[in-house]
Amino acid sequence: QENVQEKIDYVFKVVVIGDSAVGKTQILSRFTKNEFCFDSKSTIGVEFQTRTVTIKDKVIKAQIWDTAGQERYRAVTSAYYRGALGAMLVYDITKRPTFDHVARWVEELRAHADNSIVIMLIGNKADLVDLRAVPKEDAVEFADDQGLFFSETSALSGDNVDSAFFRLLEEINGVVC
Ligand code: GDP
Repeated sequence: QENVQEKIDYVFKVVVIGDSAVGKTQILSRFTKNEFCFDSKSTIGVEFQTRTVTIKDKVIKAQIWDTAGQERYRAVTSAYYRGALGAMLVYDITKRPTFDHVARWVEELRAHADNSIVIMLIGNKADLVDLRAVPKEDAVEFADDQGLFFSETSALSGDNVDSAFFRLLEEINGVVC
């Protein structure tokens, strides 16, 4: 699926949002570097990473933005959302409040992002089965209701991370192209 040659057909900006500590940074590093870093809280300030993939014969550079801690201070600005074609809205399946806040994040997206933005709801830390606090059915219902795609992932094991991003990128590809 990887493509080393630099003949890019499209650049798709994707933002990763959600409460603090749900695993946004780890999901990003799993998808772009296939790494999971223990205790790696790094820089403050908006940053992005990229991965180039091929979807339906098109070479697509996914430019994926991380809030890098700023969600704590409600400092995610409209510049962060500008031009975003997709959003990964992440909650932690072991922390109910992070799921309860998802509606607020959707409002935030509707207010600041483009109307056609494709949103994927992500229940992360699916490896922590014994600590589950959010039933999958609740998330499925919310996603259906709001017109979001949905997947549970584990950045730790890598489960479903690639497939969730590919699903999102395929949907964006269908909207844009
Ligand atoms: P962010 O604040 O949303 O960017 O969250 P981080 O990516 O910094 O992750 C917060 C904490 O959750 C860190 O201690 C990670 O090691 C841990 N974490 C992230 N993803 C997973 C996961 O899929 N499974 C488990 N068990 N821990 C995770």
